[in-house]
Amino acid sequence: MQDCPRCGARTRQGAPCRSPAVTGKTRCRMHGGAKGSGGQSGQANGRYRTGQHTREAKEMRRMVAELLREGAKLTERS
Ligand SMILES: [Zn+2]
Repeated sequence: MQDCPRCGARTRQGAPCRSPAVTGKTRCRMHGGAKGSGGQSGQANGRYRTGQHTREAKEMRRMVAELLREGAKLTERS
């Protein structure tokens, strides 16, 4: 219980708050960690990332599309 995450909010004295953070958050309930506060979780959040737009994923889709084009060309000729 001693090594549970602590609130990192800066107090008016300049020192970190150090109160125990709300579960799943990085702030205590006094500093914006209250239940229901903050953004929506998952896909509803504007910062949600799917991993579909990494350089590797884009390259893979491009290569598959190219292969399909080549395949179509080959079957056309026969
Ligand atoms: Zn706090």
